[in-house]
Amino acid sequence: MKILVIGAGPSGLMFASETKRLKPEWDIRIIEKNHPDDNVVGWGVVLPGRAPHHPANPLSYLENHEILDAQYLEDFKLTHHNQSALKSTGVTLCGAERKSMVRELRQMCIGLGIQIDYEQPVLSDAELACNEYDLVVVSNGLNHTTTYYRDALKPKVEFGKNRYMWYGTTKTFDAMNLIFKAHSKGVFVAHSYKYSSKMSTFVVECSEETYRKSGLDEMTTEDAERFIASVFEDELDGKAVIAQEGLKWRNFMTLSHEKAYDGNVALLGDALQSGHFSIGHGTTMAVVGAQILVKAVYDNPENVSAALEDFNQHVMPIMQLFDQHATVSRLWFESVEDRMHQSTGEVAQGFAERRGQLPPLPAALGQALERALDRGEK
Ligand SMILES: Cc1cc2nc3c(=O)[nH]c(=O)nc-3n(C[C@H](O)[C@H](O)[C@H](O)COP(=O)(O)OP(=O)(O)OC[C@H]3O[C@@H](n4cnc5c(N)ncnc54)[C@H](O)[C@@H]3O)c2cc1C
Repeated sequence: MKILVIGAGPSGLMFASETKRLKPEWDIRIIEKNHPDDNVVGWGVVLPGRAPHHPANPLSYLENHEILDAQYLEDFKLTHHNQSALKSTGVTLCGAERKSMVRELRQMCIGLGIQIDYEQPVLSDAELACNEYDLVVVSNGLNHTTTYYRDALKPKVEFGKNRYMWYGTTKTFDAMNLIFKAHSKGVFVAHSYKYSSKMSTFVVECSEETYRKSGLDEMTTEDAERFIASVFEDELDGKAVIAQEGLKWRNFMTLSHEKAYDGNVALLGDALQSGHFSIGHGTTMAVVGAQILVKAVYDNPENVSAALEDFNQHVMPIMQLFDQHATVSRLWFESVEDRMHQSTGEVAQGFAERRGQLPPLPAALGQALERALDRGEK
C-alpha cells in the first residue's frame, strides 16, 4: 500500500510508525510544513502512565524514552484563596517535553524506513495528491485554514470564551497544579506541572474582560510575561514565565467532525477532533486514534474504503466522548469567576465533579485501545 501522511506531529508519526512495523513492505511518506529544527508549538504535555508500560503514552514506543527526562506525577494540588489542597490523582501521569517527544518520534519513523519531507506545507485539496496514494492521512493539527481541504472534511469550529497562553517556566511544579488567583484586574487560572527536571508548563487563562482590563491585549510579549509572573509570584517563587516565539494569547479552538474520512482521505489527531487543554488528553487521543486507524488498514489491506469505514465506526464514538468531556471542562473554567467566593474545598469538589455526569473517558479509551491492539495473526 502507498500511504501519504500530512503533518509530522504525534498522530501522524504514531500512525506511520505503527503501520510500518506491521507492514514493512508498505510505502509510507510523511510531509511536514516546518523545518526539522523549527520549534514545536508548546512546552510540555501530560501523558497517561509510565513509559514503556502504557500503550496510550507515545513515549512507550520509543526505545530511548529515558533521554526525554520525563517526569512522573502522582499528586494534584489546587490553590484557591492562597490555600492549597493536595491529594493523590489515583493514577500516574507523565509530563513530557513536546519538542523532544516529536523529535524522537520522527527519528523512530526514519529508523523504520519512513521518508519525512520537511518544509512542504500542503495547502490545498489539489495538493493532497489523492490519486497517487491508496491512503492519505491528514494529521496537520489544529489548523484553522488548511484543514479545509475539501467541503466533506470541513470541521465545525468553535472558539472558547477565555483567553489562554501556553507559557513555560523554570519553576518545577512537582504535582499537577491548578491555581486560582483573584487579582485586582480579574481572575487568572494557571495549569502547571513539570515536564523535565528543569522546566514546567504554565498555561494561564482568564476571561476576555480580564484580558482587556489588565491590558494584556496591548502589552508586548515581555511586558505580558512580567505581568503574569507578578500575578503568580508566590507560586512561581519569583521565577519568570517564558513565552514561546510566535505564540500569542488566544481563544481555544475546538475542531469537530461528524465523519473521520472522505474517499481515501482520513483525519487524525487534532485535525479530526481537538479538545480543551484542561483535560490534558489531546496527545492520548492522537495515539488511540492512530492505533484504531492502524488496525483498520491492517485488517483491510486490499480495501481502503472498508478500512476507513471501520476506522470511522470505531474512532467517532470516542472522539465524541472526548469532545463532550473537553467542552464540559472548558465551560467550567469559563464560569470560574462565579465560584471564586466558594471555599477551597468547594472549588476542589466542583472541579473533581465537573465531568461526573459523563461516561468516564479513560475506560472508553482503554477499551478502544485494547481492541485496536488486538491484531491477530496475519
Ligand atoms: C495549551 C495546550 C496545552 C495542551 N496540553 C496537553 C496535555 O497536557 N496533554 C495532551 O495530551 N495534550 C495536550 N494538548 C494537546 C496536544 O498538544 C495535541 O492534541 C497534539 O499535539 C495533537 O497532535 P497532532 O499530531 O494531531 O497535531 P500537532 O501536534 O499539532 O502536529 C501537527 C503537525 O502538522 C504540521 N502541519 C501543519 N499544517 C501542515 C500542512 N499544511 N502541511 C504539512 N504539515 C502541516 C505541523 O507543523 C505539525 O508538525 C495541549 C494543547 C494546548 C493548546
